[in-house]
Amino acid sequence: MPGKWDWLKDELRASGLAGATPLVIRFISGRLRGPDDLVKCALCPNMCRHACPVGIVDGRETTSPAGKTRAALLLRQGRLQPTLENVSPLYTCLSCNACSVWCPFGFSVADLVRPVKEKAAGGGSIFKEFREVFENLEKHGYVYGEPKREDSGLHGDLLYLRGCTLREKQPGVAEKAEHVLEELGYRPFTIDEACCGIPAYNLGNTRLFKRVAEKQAEKINSSGAGIIVASCPSCVYAYRVLYPKHGVKINAEVNHIAEFLEDRLKGFKGEGRVVIHNPCKLAFALGKPKALYNTLSSVEGLTVREPRRSGGETFCCGYGGSAVPRLNPQLARRIALERGVELTEEAETIVTACPTCKLALESNGFKVLDVMELLHSFTSG
Ligand code: SF4
Ligand code: SF4
Repeated sequence: MPGKWDWLKDELRASGLAGATPLVIRFISGRLRGPDDLVKCALCPNMCRHACPVGIVDGRETTSPAGKTRAALLLRQGRLQPTLENVSPLYTCLSCNACSVWCPFGFSVADLVRPVKEKAAGGGSIFKEFREVFENLEKHGYVYGEPKREDSGLHGDLLYLRGCTLREKQPGVAEKAEHVLEELGYRPFTIDEACCGIPAYNLGNTRLFKRVAEKQAEKINSSGAGIIVASCPSCVYAYRVLYPKHGVKINAEVNHIAEFLEDRLKGFKGEGRVVIHNPCKLAFALGKPKALYNTLSSVEGLTVREPRRSGGETFCCGYGGSAVPRLNPQLARRIALERGVELTEEAETIVTACPTCKLALESNGFKVLDVMELLHSFTSG
């Protein structure tokens, strides 16, 4: 019968680590060479756990950041079979990247476990909760089934992309966003856009992600747009980071709407007091931790508060990464509640810049406005 820590001993021997105390210093300084990234993370005493929303709210070892990579390593080694039960810890990740802020190596657990998820999914370990998303993306290129067909405007100087969730569940926000852009002197237009594909990527189906991305890129590029503004930070992350990584090209400058407006609201006047919820994709993945704050702070007369966990140390709404709200809605809800309570200590009205964050916090009883809804309330329209 194998010993309890054989897997660890094997890795230590293979990496030449046994008995080498100074390696601990090299580890915590992020200078450890030898084992690959997944092994390094699996060996880590969870140095980022205090920042992981799942680690904090769920509190279990298996779903802690290093708990997930340990499970991934055992699956990669074949010591665990890729059953749904065994791969499930890998899907208790919000893909928020908060771990990367504290990690000595700058790792994101979401990225480390992705190849193992892809392999398990490729071998048939797919949760029934994901099948509908995959079928919808395959058939319609849209997360929510067949979208209502729309005429592409194709007139204007700015392509405004809404993303599936805003288009399907918050159409009023899109109208208000276009109105605000018009007030600022732009001529925004929309297209019959498809999904950016990121739900498939998050759920371990990278091949499908790539197919959807190619279709969406074709639609965007054939619009002739030179500048894009988008309301969903995950879409922007897909266009700006994931598409080039997978050989898909967008021929336009892509901006998230909060960063686009950062220095364009001079003279804009408002009132009241709000607290901002900084979306994790905007803060961590796109490296724009102050974009929403700067945008709103430039509105004269508006009081903008930030919660304890803000800016570059923000906290996910609980619905990030596509998997947790589908597989473990109670956990997603508990994370949303933890965040909502923290936010409303500062102000009753929460303002965010992500349709999924709005959905998560609103579904759990909080008053939430998208940044464009708030700005629209200060215009004449
Ligand atoms: S990406 Fe977010 S949820 Fe996933 S392990 Fe890192 S901090 Fe936790
Ligand atoms: S992501 Fe970095 S800090 Fe977090 S558990 Fe892995 S190695 Fe440790």
